[in-house]
Amino acid sequence: MKNIEPPKFEETSPEFEEAFRDGYGGCRRTCDCGRELFDIANSYDWEEGELENLTKLATEKPEEYVALEYSCSTLTVNGRTFVLGCPCNGARPYEDWINRHDRQLAAYLNKRSKLLEEEAKALKVAGVLAET
Ligand SMILES: [Zn+2]
Repeated sequence: MKNIEPPKFEETSPEFEEAFRDGYGGCRRTCDCGRELFDIANSYDWEEGELENLTKLATEKPEEYVALEYSCSTLTVNGRTFVLGCPCNGARPYEDWINRHDRQLAAYLNKRSKLLEEEAKALKVAGVLAET
């Protein structure tokens, strides 16, 4: 009998990451899934024994602690913050949803843009009227 693994999400695309990246990086971050990720490649001002403890935990509990060889960056989607490189790839379903509905989203954003433009013009007129 074949051993069937549960489906895993693919990683997010670089374009999606660029659009949703928080711009913060650092030595350790907690992902929305609960995993603790930490950077073992760069130098940081770690607390006494902190890095050694994390490295030990990553060996003992690899499902909960993940060592990265780069700075821990995050992206936030729908109020949830995910660490790039986390095995959960938790942001991927959001990218998939956007890709599945790209035409609808483009139509919505274009209509919304027109409404906002009209609203801005109306405010401008109202502003001019208020000054006179
Ligand atoms: Zn995660």
